[in-house]
Amino acid sequence: MTPSCGRRSELHEPLSVDERCLRLNADDGSAGTLLGMRCVECGVTVFGPATFCQSCSSPRLEQIDLATEGTLYSYTIVRVPPSGWPGPVPYVLGEVELPEGPHVLAEVIDCAHDALRVGMPMTLALRPVAMPEVPDSERVVYKWRPA
Ligand SMILES: [Zn+2]
Repeated sequence: MTPSCGRRSELHEPLSVDERCLRLNADDGSAGTLLGMRCVECGVTVFGPATFCQSCSSPRLEQIDLATEGTLYSYTIVRVPPSGWPGPVPYVLGEVELPEGPHVLAEVIDCAHDALRVGMPMTLALRPVAMPEVPDSERVVYKWRPA
């Protein structure tokens, strides 16, 4: 993709919904990595930002890349979404367990509700979503889909 010199181009470059949780690896926002914090003392890893270890209270944490595949640990079908939910309803909210240990909660897409099974392999899917509170803006959000 050629960089655009259009005056509004900066409005259309994909941005992560939260750079502490998701780093984008492609210019078009199609690929990215979930980020976690691993305790140097005990090895316990959490998804997203942390300032001390939930297990041993150590402040010695390092940021690591998390796997893009995991298994479905639990899920629920949401019929009453939070205010401002931009997608279709009902939708599936899935809790996926990653090999490093953290559980990551996100919408499950591309899966019929009666095909959902605890333990099924899931893979990361990134999607641009318009932010209702910010006109003419999009953020890339992370979701899960069957692997
Ligand atoms: Zn620890």
